[in-house]
Amino acid sequence: MNDTHTSFARAQQHIPGGVNSPVRAFKSVGGEPLFIERAQGAYLYATDGRAYLDYVGSWGPMILGHAHPDVVAAVQEATARGLSFGAPTELETQMAERVCELVPSIDMVRMVNSGTEATMSAIRLARGFTGRDKIVKFEGCYHGHADALLVKAGSGALTLGVPDSPGVPAAVAEHTLTLPYNDLQAVNDLFARIGGQIACIIVEPVAGNMNCVPPEPGFLEGLRRVCDAHGALLILDEVMTGFRVALGGAQALYGITPDLTTLGKIIGGGMPVGAFGGRRDVMEHLAPLGPVYQAGTLSGNPLAMTAGLKTLELIAVPGFHERLTETTTHLLRGLENAATAAGVALRTNQAGAMFGLFFTDAPAVRSFADVMASDADRFRRFFHGMLDEGVNLAPSAFEAGFVSAAHGPAEIEATVAAAQRTFAAMA
Ligand code: PMP
Repeated sequence: MNDTHTSFARAQQHIPGGVNSPVRAFKSVGGEPLFIERAQGAYLYATDGRAYLDYVGSWGPMILGHAHPDVVAAVQEATARGLSFGAPTELETQMAERVCELVPSIDMVRMVNSGTEATMSAIRLARGFTGRDKIVKFEGCYHGHADALLVKAGSGALTLGVPDSPGVPAAVAEHTLTLPYNDLQAVNDLFARIGGQIACIIVEPVAGNMNCVPPEPGFLEGLRRVCDAHGALLILDEVMTGFRVALGGAQALYGITPDLTTLGKIIGGGMPVGAFGGRRDVMEHLAPLGPVYQAGTLSGNPLAMTAGLKTLELIAVPGFHERLTETTTHLLRGLENAATAAGVALRTNQAGAMFGLFFTDAPAVRSFADVMASDADRFRRFFHGMLDEGVNLAPSAFEAGFVSAAHGPAEIEATVAAAQRTFAAMA
């Protein structure tokens, strides 16, 4: 057993902020992060000797729960055959076939190593294909940390209060046009003015980086329409929602056909993986078939493909997502009832096994402005209360929560009981 404070102090000596990704540092909630020794099922085991019921799931990938025995065994087997070849493997073809089967809008797919690479490459491809420079994104949506996309980018950037990072040249950011999420009128107005210069719209089909904000009815359909009318491509960033809100992702849940889709998280089963794919005529513009360059030393890595393929196999069993969605609904109803009983104003949002908690009196949370109007200080108190109770939530009021298949009725009940005690202390 190790003292967390000592571990964090040591980490900070040689790692900026002691972390390899900013939101892990607990900056927005205060305090010091847990150091994790191992994880199993719905639980993280920290170096403080305690077990924590986990609703972060490594920020989305661990939809089967941590260290699923079948995934671990498959990766162990693959490890013995070699860690990386830098040459084609049948595993990559199997992965591509699987992705195209599960997500019918994808005719061809290219594997990369992170969600950031996926969105960055998809944007380059959209620009190369259309011959246009401008892109449209939405306030509070995060698409990774590529320069052109680090504008009004949600979660980590929101948490730190630096939505526009120094180091991003103004000349790069000037082609990124940002509009309010769920505001179709703003999109139509922009396209009416300069639609012919816009290469693509990139959107989180369920916003998961400003907490969790589902699309309003008609919003995604409207984006599809305006792209078609102006010859722009629609990119659904399903890094978070892909294989989570439904087996076929948000595009299956809402019935939207994008031109390109970006994937990450679950597709790697916990290994560092991303992917982008879509229409064959667009994907054929990629090198080596076409002129748009994109590459990666470790892309399609055999261990990552193995973890991803096994995960996709296990979540494709009939009823998997329906059960996960029910579990999530059950959790949210429990939390709402506990909040009401304690006189705490709480609103929740849900899309499949993705959820958002908002401390607000507002009747609903539908926009970036609604999210920003919720009480971040109450969230901080709730977060730390729950952590003391042994429940690990994302350490920011701007992150979505995730439920895994390892969260059973006992885990939900324990979470609601912890929330009852925490709300009582907050009220
Ligand atoms: N797009 C979305 C919607 C994401 O949620 C994230 C990461 N949370 C990314 C892109 C970037 O992925 P990565 O962190 O793997 O680079």
